[in-house]
Amino acid sequence: MGIIVQKYGGTSLAGSERIKKVASRIVTTKKQGHNVVAVVSAVGDTTDNLLKQAHEIAPAPPKRELDMLLATGEQIAISLLAIAISELGCEAISFTGAQVGIVTDTAYTKARIVSVRVQRVINEINKGKIVIVAGFQGATKNNDITTLGRGGSDMTAVALAAELNADICQIYTDVEGVYTADPRLEPKARKLEVVSYEEMLELAATGANVLQLRSVEYGRNHHVLIEVRSSFSDTPGTLIKEDVQVMEKAIISGVTCEKEEAKITIFGVPDRPGIAVKVFKALADEGVNVDMILQNVSDKGITDITFTAPRRDLPICRRVVDGVVDELKARGKSYDEEIAKVSLVGAGMKSHPGIAAHMFEILSDNGINIEMISTSSIKVSCVIREKDVVSAVQAIHRGFELDKEPIK
Ligand code: ADP
Ligand code: ASP
Ligand code: MG
Repeated sequence: MGIIVQKYGGTSLAGSERIKKVASRIVTTKKQGHNVVAVVSAVGDTTDNLLKQAHEIAPAPPKRELDMLLATGEQIAISLLAIAISELGCEAISFTGAQVGIVTDTAYTKARIVSVRVQRVINEINKGKIVIVAGFQGATKNNDITTLGRGGSDMTAVALAAELNADICQIYTDVEGVYTADPRLEPKARKLEVVSYEEMLELAATGANVLQLRSVEYGRNHHVLIEVRSSFSDTPGTLIKEDVQVMEKAIISGVTCEKEEAKITIFGVPDRPGIAVKVFKALADEGVNVDMILQNVSDKGITDITFTAPRRDLPICRRVVDGVVDELKARGKSYDEEIAKVSLVGAGMKSHPGIAAHMFEILSDNGINIEMISTSSIKVSCVIREKDVVSAVQAIHRGFELDKEPIK
């Protein structure tokens, strides 16, 4: 009998009625002849509320204690779901991440999984039980609780699916799959039948948070077949898998955006070896994920460096950049918190010239100014004003006719 891993997100579990519905879906899957391992997130907005409370008490809570706190959210969810399943007459057993053997490094709040020991899960499956695992969490070798970064229950599900050699890892959420744009921003967004790992990585990296980026990476590395689908319907979702057949492949798979970005510029720095490393090494040492970087053409040995980073990291960026500006006697600095990034992703870009130009044309026709551009072989990203981001997503979606089925 094969194993199916099913992950249920917070919205899918918000309230007793929804928990009962999830329980009955799991029981149905079991009765259809599959072994089920269910991974669950904290119900509703629990994680956000816990974080909020911690920050009301301290502006920068110790990360180890934050993880102790945040992991409680998922622990509530697993026990409630196990109770709901037993009420339906099936045997279920719930485990925390530490109990099932999800071992991580010590990078609290964004720990990486170093090993997954599934023997306990297999033992319970062999007894005929439904196994329920708390997503988003693990423990270090010393048994300190860690969490895997926001959206980390996806990671738990994919890692368990890989280790258990599951037939499929189903991610149940509040939309019916992966769409050509966030359906909350673009009502005409179209559900994709299938997306390659490569494209899903770019979509997730540029703001399609329907799947956590790291979970897609892990899925690709371990060849896990992933399906994103709705916990509120029985409609088939979107498959994420290797090497989508060329016939099925559209040129563009979607348009994404990230709102919570910041742009930092250092003016008038000497244009000589060692300057970029000074700035970006210091930021990397502080754990800042710098995104785009732009260096102007130098004028009389002096240049400007601009980069973007997540807005929540702006306090760290300010500290680092203020220090560098003083040290190098740079002319100045600026911090811009009103930017956003809009991206177009599609494997077909590799073989279709003119995609980037068309995107720039659409933005210009809509009076949207592009402040920075970056590209990869299957993605074009533009930094724009945050106030323009929704109209940019919609204009690009319309301009590339993403609401229409591609011609195959
Ligand atoms: P869960 O709590 O189930 O993990 P998330 O909020 O993490 O749910 O992810 C689902 C959300 O992802 C959707 O409600 C949707 O607004 C958002 N989303 C962003 N981009 C996309 C996209 N391209 N396709 C589908 N959903 C998207
Ligand atoms: N509860 C965690 C979060 O909100 C993990 C998850 O939902 O995947 O980020
Ligand atoms: Mg999620």
